[in-house]
Amino acid sequence: MNGRMAEERKGMLLVVSGPAGAGKGTLIERLMQSDPTFVFSVSCTTREMRYYETNGVQYYFINDEQFDKYIQENAFLEYATVHGHRYGTLLSEVKERLAKGINVILDIDVQGGLAVMKKAPDCVSVFIYPPSYQDLLDHLHKRNSEGEEEIQRRVHNARGEIQKMGEYQYLLLNDDLETAFDHLKCIVTAEKMKSSRFIPTIPEKRPDHSKN
Ligand code: 5GP
Repeated sequence: MNGRMAEERKGMLLVVSGPAGAGKGTLIERLMQSDPTFVFSVSCTTREMRYYETNGVQYYFINDEQFDKYIQENAFLEYATVHGHRYGTLLSEVKERLAKGINVILDIDVQGGLAVMKKAPDCVSVFIYPPSYQDLLDHLHKRNSEGEEEIQRRVHNARGEIQKMGEYQYLLLNDDLETAFDHLKCIVTAEKMKSSRFIPTIPEKRPDHSKN
């Protein structure tokens, strides 16, 4: 029984990476809507808040001083500089939830993803990739949350991220949102059934549902 007690459920740490504009955010949101066993890990960032964002929802928006303080206190599971800003996953967003059997989603870049894979080798890692670089550009222009210089920087960084996608367990093409979402659900469903996560006890008798 893998040295574990029956019925003890381990939460899944789902690491999702992929270049800006690949549709990561949309897929994560849909997964959380369809499966309430998943909770989003809210990261810290030193970047400016966008007009549609709320502190504590998409991110904890903090300054460099606070970020340094968290590093000194070993409060981060991982942290990295992405597109010129600092981002970090707080241990407090992850550790206790996993211990309680709650599944946690991390939306982090490849540097962070690789660091988490080292520290938590039983995490599930998924890399979302676009059908073409042109699709990335189109998405970023449509999203309209960055200026042209920022967009070019993100597409440039995308090439670096894509070079490392072979380190991830699952590579998910986002050509069509419905198909990509179905595939993400398949990954999650299979991962939930792993014996390393949960070993059920099978009762002798069929449960009597008529009383409910
Ligand atoms: P954005 O600023 O556009 O929301 O995110 C920029 C990039 O930072 C995305 O690739 C996102 O996955 C990544 N990111 C967000 N939070 C974290 C984090 O806590 N750690 C790391 N390493 N990357 C993060």
